[in-house]
Amino acid sequence: MEYQHASEMNVSVDKYLKICKHNGLCREEKDSKDAIDSNKLSHIEKAYTTILSELGEDVDRDGLLRTPLRAAKAMQFLTKGYKETTQDILNDAIFDENHDEMVIVKDIEMFSLCEHHLVPFFGKAHIAYLPNKKVVGLSKLARIVEIYSRRLQVQERLTKQIASAISEALEPAGVAVVIEAVHMCMVMRGVQKINASTVTSVMLGTFHDNPTTRKEFLSLTMRK
Ligand SMILES: [Zn+2]
Repeated sequence: MEYQHASEMNVSVDKYLKICKHNGLCREEKDSKDAIDSNKLSHIEKAYTTILSELGEDVDRDGLLRTPLRAAKAMQFLTKGYKETTQDILNDAIFDENHDEMVIVKDIEMFSLCEHHLVPFFGKAHIAYLPNKKVVGLSKLARIVEIYSRRLQVQERLTKQIASAISEALEPAGVAVVIEAVHMCMVMRGVQKINASTVTSVMLGTFHDNPTTRKEFLSLTMRK
């Protein structure tokens, strides 16, 4: 593994993969290797060395010797979504289908970085769309969440980007995206609102125009 030091991140990634397996959403583990851009790695590593020493750390002590490199790799992994596009993953995954009932994938695990503090926010995304002849492999919806969450983000934009990507790719009658997330910048600093979670939603097409459709989606996804 690339990231032995970041135990909390390993937990997240492992958890995600496990959930993928159970839902049949598995994908290649090579993703984490693809995220590493060796040209930029040494620059980021140097920057982390500067940050550590400016924080008053002794960057030569044993525990920190490889930390700048590990942190640089971790940061590249956590922002690997910049190198991916929805076209790449949807290319051969859209099918013509005479299905016009609501398709819902709920509880998609989501991990992102707040662009204001560079600390994680994470939670769950719920996605629905009303097909208009075109459907997509269900695992691809989770991949779209991944592409946009593995960047520096604000939750509102993340929600919008996921909805727009689905809307553009499938031209459905409607798209709904809800994200529930906990922001570590709220939890760990300042007011320390441990249990506060933030909910954002974007409703397009029928989900926007028709209260009954919207209600059906919300009652199916927001049920605890
Ligand atoms: Zn923040």
